[in-house]
Amino acid sequence: MKTYAIAAIPGDGIGPEVVDAGVEVLEAVAKRDGGFGLRVDRFDWGGEYYKKHGRMMPENGRDLIRKHDAILFGSAGHPDIPDHITLWGLRLAICQPFDQYANVRPTRVLPGITSPLRAVDGPELDWVIVRENSEGEYAGVGGRVHQGSPLEAATDVAMFTRAGVERIMRFAFGLARSRSRKFLTVVTKSNAQRHAMVMWDEIATQIAAEFPDVTWDKMLVDAMTMRMVMRPQTLDTIVATNLHADILSDLAAVLAGSLGIAPTANLNPERAFPSMFEPIHGSAFDIMGKGIANPIGTFWSSVMMLEHFGEQAAAARLMRAIEKVTGDRRLHTPDLGGTARTADVTAAVIDAIHGANV
Ligand code: NAD
Ligand code: MN
Repeated sequence: MKTYAIAAIPGDGIGPEVVDAGVEVLEAVAKRDGGFGLRVDRFDWGGEYYKKHGRMMPENGRDLIRKHDAILFGSAGHPDIPDHITLWGLRLAICQPFDQYANVRPTRVLPGITSPLRAVDGPELDWVIVRENSEGEYAGVGGRVHQGSPLEAATDVAMFTRAGVERIMRFAFGLARSRSRKFLTVVTKSNAQRHAMVMWDEIATQIAAEFPDVTWDKMLVDAMTMRMVMRPQTLDTIVATNLHADILSDLAAVLAGSLGIAPTANLNPERAFPSMFEPIHGSAFDIMGKGIANPIGTFWSSVMMLEHFGEQAAAARLMRAIEKVTGDRRLHTPDLGGTARTADVTAAVIDAIHGANV
C-alpha cells in the first residue's frame, strides 16, 4: 500500500488552527478509503521560530522536506514581524526554489454559500485562476539605496522570461483544455506596460496555436475586475501574472462567499520537487486563537493534494463531504454569517466522510 509523506507547515496566526483540522480530515479520508496511507511530519517554522533563531526556517529546511510527496501549508505572517520577512523567509523560500511555478486557484460557489453576486442574473461561478508563481513582479529583482536620506530610491523590477511565460501559458491552455468549456482568458496590461506585457501577449498567441481546440480571449486587468463582477458567467480558466492573479484571486474568493473557503495548489508540474497546498488566506490576526477560523479553504486544498497524488476517489469523497457540510447553514463559521466553530466544521466533515451517502 502506498504511503504518502506530507510535510505540514502550519506557520502563524490561524495557520496552525486550519492545518491541524486539515490533517485530521486527510487522515479520516485515507482511513475511509483504505487504499493508501499518510505519514504527516510537522515543521514548526514561522514567526515564533524566527524570534528564537533569527530566521523563518532552518538553513537546511528545504532539504528536510524535499523528499516529501507534498507540503500542506498554513500561513506566513506574524503580528510582530514585517510581512516581507515572513513571506520571503518561508512561503517564497519554498515556492521559488522548488519551482512551483503554476499556482492553481479554483473558485466555485459551494452549496449553501451565498455569493455577493446573488443579484446578478445566474451568478454561477466556476473558475480556475492560474497564477504565474515564479517570476514577474515577485521575482525579487530590485534594490534600495540612500535609505532614510532625501535621495532615497527603491525599485521592484518585474522580470519576465520567455521560458517562464511559455511554460505557464502551456500549463494554462492545457488546464483549459481539460475543462468542459475549453475556454481561457489571458489577463494582461500591455497598454501601459509596453515591454514584458507585450511579450506576454505575443507568447500567449504563439502557445494558443498548439491548442486549436481551446478558445481564448484577452483582457486588461483593470477591466477584468469589472467582468468578474458583472459578467462572471463569461469566464472559465484564467491565466495572469504573479501580481495580477494575486489580486484577482482574492476578489474571486470573496465573490464565491469568503476568503476562508478558497484553496490553492502551488504546483511543480514536472514533479521534480514536492508541490505545496494551502488556503489562500493569511494569518488573520483579528480572529487567531478564537477557534472560529473557517477550515474549508484548507480542506479544499487537501482535495487538490489528493488529486495531485492521483487518489481521485478519496479526493471526490472529501469534496462531497465538504459540500454536504457547507450546505448546512448551521455549520457556517462567522465569516459566512454563522456561529459554528472550526472544530464543529471539522467534526462534521469527518462525520460525512464516514457516512454511507458520501
Ligand atoms: P488575511 O487573509 O489574514 O485576513 C483578511 C480577512 O479575512 C481578515 O478579516 C480575516 O479574519 C479574514 N479571514 C481570512 N482567513 C479566514 C478564515 N479561514 N476564516 C475566517 N476568516 C478569515 O489577510 P491580511 O489581514 O491581509 O494578512 C494577515 C497576515 O497574513 C499578514 O502578515 C500577511 O502578510 C499574511 N498573509 C500570508 C499569506 C500566505 O502565507 N499565503 C497570504 C495572505 C496574507
Ligand atoms: Mn494574496
